[in-house]
Amino acid sequence: MHTVTLIKGDGIGPDITEATLKVIEAAGVKIKWDEVRAGEGAIEEFGTPLPAEVINSLKTNGIGLKGPLTTPIGSGFRSINVALRMELDLYANLRPSKTFPGVRSRFEDIDLVVVRENTEDLYSGVEHMVGADAAESIKIITRKASERIVRFAFDYALENGRKKVTAVHKANILKLSDGLFLEVAREVAEKYPRVEFEDRIVDNMAMQLVQKPELYDVMVMPNLYGDILSDLCAGLVGGLGLVPGANIGDNAALFEPVHGSAPKYAGKNYVNPSAMIMAAVLMLKHMGEKEAAQRIEEALAAQIKEGKDLTADLGGSAGTAEMAAALAERIKVN
Ligand code: NAD
Repeated sequence: MHTVTLIKGDGIGPDITEATLKVIEAAGVKIKWDEVRAGEGAIEEFGTPLPAEVINSLKTNGIGLKGPLTTPIGSGFRSINVALRMELDLYANLRPSKTFPGVRSRFEDIDLVVVRENTEDLYSGVEHMVGADAAESIKIITRKASERIVRFAFDYALENGRKKVTAVHKANILKLSDGLFLEVAREVAEKYPRVEFEDRIVDNMAMQLVQKPELYDVMVMPNLYGDILSDLCAGLVGGLGLVPGANIGDNAALFEPVHGSAPKYAGKNYVNPSAMIMAAVLMLKHMGEKEAAQRIEEALAAQIKEGKDLTADLGGSAGTAEMAAALAERIKVN
C-alpha cells in the first residue's frame, strides 16, 4: 500500500480530484491518501496558503498529487507553487505533451517532453528597483543546477526509450549564464553516448516547434524558456485541459495538472478532468505502477477517440464526474 499526500486544490480542484481518485481506484491501485489543505481553503483555516503540515506530509510521503491552487493577487503571498518547489527542492519540471487522437489540434502525432529547470534562472526572486524608474531582475544559472537538470533529462530519455535530447538556450547573447548552461549540457551529454544530443537557440526552437515538431523528442532548458515552451507544446496538442506536469526532486515528487483553478467553473461539475488524470498516470509510473498507468492512459485515449462521455471542451456534454465514471467502467471492463 502506497501513502500519497493529496491536495485537492482550489476552484475546480475538488471536482477533478474526485474524478481522478475514482479512476485510480478502478485501476486497482491501493493508495492511502494523506489529505492536506493548501491555497485559499488553507488561508481560511490556518491563516496561510501553505501550512507547515503540507510540507511535512510531502517530506514524509515523498510523493503527492495536487489540484490547482489559486494564487491570491495583491495579498503579498508569493506563488504557492513556486514556494512548494523551493521548499522541497523539486528541481525538475517534467511536461510531456502527447497527441490524443480525436482532439482537434494542428498536428496529429506530437510526442514531446519539456524538462524545465525549476529552481533558479529569473525565478530566483532576486529583483530590485534602481531608483524610481528602473528595475533589475537577476538571472542566476549555476553549474550544479544545470548539471542535475541535464542529467535528469538524459536519464529520463534512457528510462523511457527516447532517442534525443535537445538543450535550449540563448547562449549567443547571454554568453555567461546560458553559456554556462550550454557548456554543462555538452559535458553531461558526453556521458550518455546512446542518446543523441543537439542544442537550439530558444527563438529558433519556438519556430521549429510550431513548424516541425516531429524533429524533437526530449528538450531540456532553464526555467523561463521551459515555462514558455511547455505551454507552447500544450497548445500543439489541443490545450491545457489535457496536459499534466510533474515536479521532481531527489526526495519528493509532486504531480499536478498544468492548468489553473478556473474559479468560474468551481463546483459546477463542468471541466475536463483529463489533465489531472494524466498527472495521476505520471505519478503511478513514478511509483512503479506502470501497468495501471498504461491502462488508464489507453482507456482515456480510447474514450477521447470514440468521442463519447466527454466534457464540453472536448465537444461532449458529459459532466466531470460522468466522464470519469465512464472511464472507470472502461478500465474495470478491460
Ligand atoms: P486557468 O487554467 O485556471 O483557466 C483558464 C481557462 O482555461 C478557464 O477559464 C477555462 O476556460 C479553461 N480551463 C482550465 N482548466 C480547464 C479544464 N480542466 N477543463 C476545461 N477548461 C479548462 O487559468 P487562470 O484563469 O489564468 O488562473 C486561475 C487561477 O489558477 C489563478 O489564481 C492562477 O494563479 C491559478 N493557477 C494555478 C496553477 C497551479 O496550481 N499549478 C497553474 C496555473 C494557474
